[in-house]
Amino acid sequence: MTKRVISAMRATGGVHVGNYYGAIIQFQQLQALSNECFYFVADLHALTEVAGVIDIDSVSVEVAKHYLACLLGPPNSILYRQSDVPEVSQMAVLLGNIVSLGRLRTCTTFKDRVRNRGLAEGEVSYGLLGYPVLMSADILSVRADCVPVGQDQIQHVEMTRDFARAFNRTFGRDVFTIPEVNLQDAVRVPGIDGSEKMGKSDGNTIRLLDDPESVRSKILGIPTQAEPGGDMTKGTRALYKLMELCSPKEIYEQYVERYQRQDGKFFGEMKRRLAEDVVALLQPIQDRYRVLRDDEVREVLASGSRTVRQIAAEVLDDMCSAIGLTSGNRGV
Ligand code: AMP
Repeated sequence: MTKRVISAMRATGGVHVGNYYGAIIQFQQLQALSNECFYFVADLHALTEVAGVIDIDSVSVEVAKHYLACLLGPPNSILYRQSDVPEVSQMAVLLGNIVSLGRLRTCTTFKDRVRNRGLAEGEVSYGLLGYPVLMSADILSVRADCVPVGQDQIQHVEMTRDFARAFNRTFGRDVFTIPEVNLQDAVRVPGIDGSEKMGKSDGNTIRLLDDPESVRSKILGIPTQAEPGGDMTKGTRALYKLMELCSPKEIYEQYVERYQRQDGKFFGEMKRRLAEDVVALLQPIQDRYRVLRDDEVREVLASGSRTVRQIAAEVLDDMCSAIGLTSGNRGV
């Protein structure tokens, strides 16, 4: 049975190999199964990450180009930009009334972000605390029944299910479909500095648009141990994980076996091999990316948002009439 799937990437720029293996490949698989997929550029969510003004519009187009270059988009999936569907923000406001602060404060991603940024309680923005409410509105606005997420996002989808049930119960109507968590094999792609997660803000990424020379020099720079044997250092583990993801299985297995045999110093050779595999992986994505024009990408997003607005406007109408908000001016 086909499902209505929704997921997103934030408009924070610099889409990387971590996003590719952690998200994009799953999006491609769900699209290939003929599901009705909605993939959006989360520009409003990105606002919790940026201090000051960034060119959110051009970053959004850049993220949309990455979707298209990875073969996600029309006619198989709907691509749109979050802020182009104002109904989502309106729904988030309405949902805000059935969500308790206590519940939002228990959110692990919220606690992590507050800790990582060294914020005191009084310095936390509502945007950061309310992130799961906006995410719930994203999901509920298209009545999605399947939300592919990694382990770290399960809590957000569980909150969405609870908010949807609470709304239906409070207003005595089944306005919302209760979405299912679709737990993906949680691939966590390490950074080229050996840290556990490749991430934009950590400066440890291989971007999908990196040229071959940058890819080679980044991979050659992975801080591996002097020679194989014993427990792997973080950097060596990262090298192996990247090779497991990006190189053919038999090549990866050869290097695993050579590590076990302590077959001399081969990390330089292994890195050169991995670099060529990554260059080959990125080449077709970059070729497709380069021929995309900004105006055609904007049109794809605009057309997607028109479709989503129609769906979201109906859901918002149902919400408003359940609550008793019937001004008659909406959708003008
Ligand atoms: P973002 O928009 O930056 O939050 O990320 C988009 C998607 O990429 C999310 O589903 C993330 O979980 C995933 N992602 C980001 N970095 C990594 C990583 N290093 N390993 C695996 N998945 C990642």
